[in-house]
Amino acid sequence: MQKLLIATNNKHKVEEIRHFLSSLPYDIHSLIDISNAPKTVEDALTLEGNALKKAREAFLATGMLTLADDTGLEVFYLAMKPGVYSARYAGEKATYADNCNKLRQAMNGVAPRRRKAQFRTVVAIVGKGIERTAEGIVEGVICEEPRGSQGFGYDPLFMPNGYSKTYAEMTIEEKNQLSHRARALEKAVEILNKL
Ligand code: IMP
Repeated sequence: MQKLLIATNNKHKVEEIRHFLSSLPYDIHSLIDISNAPKTVEDALTLEGNALKKAREAFLATGMLTLADDTGLEVFYLAMKPGVYSARYAGEKATYADNCNKLRQAMNGVAPRRRKAQFRTVVAIVGKGIERTAEGIVEGVICEEPRGSQGFGYDPLFMPNGYSKTYAEMTIEEKNQLSHRARALEKAVEILNKL
């Protein structure tokens, strides 16, 4: 069976991605299983750039077909920030709570109709002679107050359109059925199926 490397050290991400790819005939590995795995510096200016950089470096180091992803929360009122800087919006060592607090402050007093945002995930697939990307977007709004305790990151502040719950008020299964990452991974599965 052909090997497929998921270029992340994040256990939760590995499990989530493994679940999406379970119908495919690949022997799935992650950077957690690889000694001397490359530590990619995520300094590209776009989500696409970072996803491709992570996938290229892991492919070059291992020779395995590689999948990598990068996600950002894009807030229209903030000119699509924090975007590619979502993990370090409140500083290099910012916690999820620090980032949420900074976002709440930045959106303090902003009218409901101007609180539109989207989560965007880009998945890159890189192998010998292969460079492909797929995108998943979920549109929603930034809530004034955090709600819910599930999930991670900006989940308590993001309510997808058509729902009356934030991501953090959904079960993991519910979120995984509609999330930005799920949408990008569905397209990645189509690409992998055709390789
Ligand atoms: P990454 O590219 O998946 O590491 O995501 C970068 C940052 O975006 C994370 O540190 C989180 O703050 C945020 N983020 C990514 N995915 C999600 C999500 O599904 N919900 C909430 N925040 C997320």
